[in-house]
Amino acid sequence: MRGYILDVKKRRDEDLIVSLLTSDRLFSLYRFYGARHSPLQLGYKIDFAYEGDPFFMPRLRSVSHLSFDWLFEIKKTRYWQIFAQLLHRHLNGADEIDEFYFALLERAALKLSVENPKRVLIESACALWEREGRLHSDLKCLICERPIDDEFIALARCLTPAHSKCLYKDGFEREALIRLFQTNEAILFDDDAIDRLWRIVEEGL
Ligand SMILES: [Zn+2]
Repeated sequence: MRGYILDVKKRRDEDLIVSLLTSDRLFSLYRFYGARHSPLQLGYKIDFAYEGDPFFMPRLRSVSHLSFDWLFEIKKTRYWQIFAQLLHRHLNGADEIDEFYFALLERAALKLSVENPKRVLIESACALWEREGRLHSDLKCLICERPIDDEFIALARCLTPAHSKCLYKDGFEREALIRLFQTNEAILFDDDAIDRLWRIVEEGL
């Protein structure tokens, strides 16, 4: 089966515990003697098998890497790995997983080869929040709970809107934000706004 590596933890010696997201599950699998195998990198997509162990964790077997053409671009891989970690933290503890999350990574991985990585992953985060009913597109202030009529709208964690004066933060252009909320497209934001949006995504999904 195929999955994305969302977390890799070292255990004694060179053993690893690997968290893998497939289309319907989040696996936590044990890899003995990691040093003897090809390295398992966070965020990579792999083909794998697993073997149950009645006395211990299930084991990761028969790994082969499924590459993307952007994997040697350090910046893209770095942001991708940060997103994988954020997704791991978000899904951690769940066992059965809606296929939406695997499909989200599949779509984002394809887009990364041609688009700005932060933009792609901000759009992916918005798609996730929308799916989970956590996208606050009604533009009501997080702090004072009144509607926001301003031209610039401040954003808290998970892109939750607020008045700039309530949150004490600079805002984002209203039109660009509405476009992002309605269509999951971040194309109206300039690079500076994309950097600021990415820092908010990094706070957690
Ligand atoms: Zn307010």
